[in-house]
Amino acid sequence: MQPEPEKTYSNYNEINEIPAFDPFKDGPIPIYTDNENDIEVAKHIVQQGLSLAEAKITEILGPNLITGDHVTHPRVHFVSEDKERPNILGYYRAYENLIVVITRNDSPVEQMKTFIHEYLHFLSHNGRDDDEKVSIYSPLAKHNNVGFRRNFGIDIRENAEKEITNNYFIAFNEAVTEQLAIDILPNTYESYHDYRGLLNGVIDDAIMRGLGSKDRDGLFTQWTKNEFKNYIYQCYFKGDLNAFTNLLHTIYEEFDISEQMFGLMTNINDLPSSVHYKMIKENGTRPSYKQVKEQIVKQLNIKTPEDYITDVDPPKDGPKNDGGDSQAVHKAAYVRYIDENDITYATTESVNGTEFEIDTLGYIIYTGDAAASLLDSIKTELDTLVNDGLNADEIITHIDELLFEQYCISMLSDGFEEFYVYKHALLDTLS
Ligand SMILES: [Zn+2]
Repeated sequence: MQPEPEKTYSNYNEINEIPAFDPFKDGPIPIYTDNENDIEVAKHIVQQGLSLAEAKITEILGPNLITGDHVTHPRVHFVSEDKERPNILGYYRAYENLIVVITRNDSPVEQMKTFIHEYLHFLSHNGRDDDEKVSIYSPLAKHNNVGFRRNFGIDIRENAEKEITNNYFIAFNEAVTEQLAIDILPNTYESYHDYRGLLNGVIDDAIMRGLGSKDRDGLFTQWTKNEFKNYIYQCYFKGDLNAFTNLLHTIYEEFDISEQMFGLMTNINDLPSSVHYKMIKENGTRPSYKQVKEQIVKQLNIKTPEDYITDVDPPKDGPKNDGGDSQAVHKAAYVRYIDENDITYATTESVNGTEFEIDTLGYIIYTGDAAASLLDSIKTELDTLVNDGLNADEIITHIDELLFEQYCISMLSDGFEEFYVYKHALLDTLS
């Protein structure tokens, strides 16, 4: 398992606590068109697109379950072309809270379709999971702001092991976004064909397996195509990649496919069912489950960056997909460590009249100036040890002693993540 997908870096609604623009108070969503004459049409597209999307989402999730009132709605720009990306229809940029619709020569209904697709990205990046447990240290639900995407994960593919990739679940994320946009506004152009083929292949396989659920009276009913779709849409809006992955694992149980492998698939030919069928056709005999898995691994190994296309702009300062970002590797390792060891706030203890917050491992969660000055002094010590020419093992032993035995610093303390990344990046230079 990879670390859970993190909230998007620099998501506008995360950085700005007070909404800069509140459509409920300030009026309609700000719209800009590069041709003044188009403004009335653009307003109509946004208004109509919003009400179509809201109606469908209310049907899927129930009323008001998606974003809180605190969420600032995106600005929408209608521009006639994007010179850098001539083939793109539109994009969503979380850190600017901006939707761009490229008008080209598209009809208003086609532009509305693009707007709806981008608006769904906005919603999935700002969705809220009311069932998720949060704590005073992470009051924001961490599963939102991503749909199914991961900002980055550690690659499993041959020759790229342990490198950073942001390819995971791009295909499923776009497939769900576009499929829902099509369900909201059918009979216009449809994009992401391969990705949607993958998604619909999964749904067909789920139906083939006869998956379903028990009703209140304990009566089992198989799910219909629509029920599977709606379930997947719900997972998407809650950023609940775990639930979606569990569905995938249930459908393809015997093939032993990892979450990362699912995340790297890009079309229906990557699914175990397709590979299985193709191998029977080619060889005349049934392959073993293991052979199917091996074939899928081969297919995933030869995918290129061009196989992973998205219209969600990358985070402003997030890790780049250059395969060599050691800081991002350490950041992922830190997140995974916290996750795997289930480190959270546990309790508050009073010592000599001072209150200390304690994590589940019994360490003190330092905050503010206290955290800064402690970690700063340990960082100075770390730099000294490196300059003194100690080897990495000796340095780790000494620093861990300071952190955990002498000062009992919790990994949840303010600035610990940055310190962790700094320490490991520095140690990398020694080996
Ligand atoms: Zn998209």
